[in-house]
Amino acid sequence: MLVNSREMLQKAQEGHYAIPSPDLFDMHSLRAYMRVAERLQQPVIIAYAPVHKPMLSLQEAAMLAMYYCKDSSAPTALHLDHGSDLQMVKDSIDLGFTSVMIDASAEPFDVNLDRTKEVVEYAHQFDITVEAEIGHVGQGETYDSGSSDTIYTEPDMAARFAEETGVDSLAVSIGTAHGKYKGVPKISFERLAELRQAVKVPLVLHGGSSSGDDNLTRCAQGGVCKINIYTDLMDANMAGIAADPSLSGMKRLIAGQDSMEEMLEHYYRVFGCIAK
Ligand SMILES: [Zn+2]
Repeated sequence: MLVNSREMLQKAQEGHYAIPSPDLFDMHSLRAYMRVAERLQQPVIIAYAPVHKPMLSLQEAAMLAMYYCKDSSAPTALHLDHGSDLQMVKDSIDLGFTSVMIDASAEPFDVNLDRTKEVVEYAHQFDITVEAEIGHVGQGETYDSGSSDTIYTEPDMAARFAEETGVDSLAVSIGTAHGKYKGVPKISFERLAELRQAVKVPLVLHGGSSSGDDNLTRCAQGGVCKINIYTDLMDANMAGIAADPSLSGMKRLIAGQDSMEEMLEHYYRVFGCIAK
């Protein structure tokens, strides 16, 4: 069943666990994610990030999702990750996406606020849920260099932002980064606790990959309701394909798919959706 993310995130907030949001990048990845969600009977937020366009267009992602997710036996949201503007949001809603992110987190506060408000107003007409970001989750490759673009989220600004925009969930920056880390991830659980206290809507964490299982379990217990995972799933895919070069091409692709399934199931445990 394809649904928006409102109810599943509310349940996660009440139950102190986080729903994985894996980015699809081809048919194998989507098939693997849906097999895991259906096998475990757990909610999943399938995300499409425009940065993956060289491998998969928005239209291709939507077509695949209609096939693999529409009649899913697990609650499934199809989510636009890092939508840059209203037009991209409109296009994705027209194609059947049930949840969108508008990311103006690199803009000044007022621009972010206005752009998010505009998207919320549009998307809510169609009962599509909206995620925005305040503070900024930067790139792991500059994490330890002193030139990182990460900006930690300020709790009072986040509270005002959530209140004024009417957004359904809020991505916050507490020390994770996108992609692989150069250096060791340093997550501020104090900041997370302050944010949880200040903000009513479910919190989202970007840059889950390689952030450390214990860290991610603590984030889920501490009020994060959705965690984005991409790099670890892609790496699992490549490792599965490379593991046994004596296999035929098709068997190696299947090994890659199996390896993604194992990685996602691992994160369902780490995030507290199912028992460890
Ligand atoms: Zn992200």
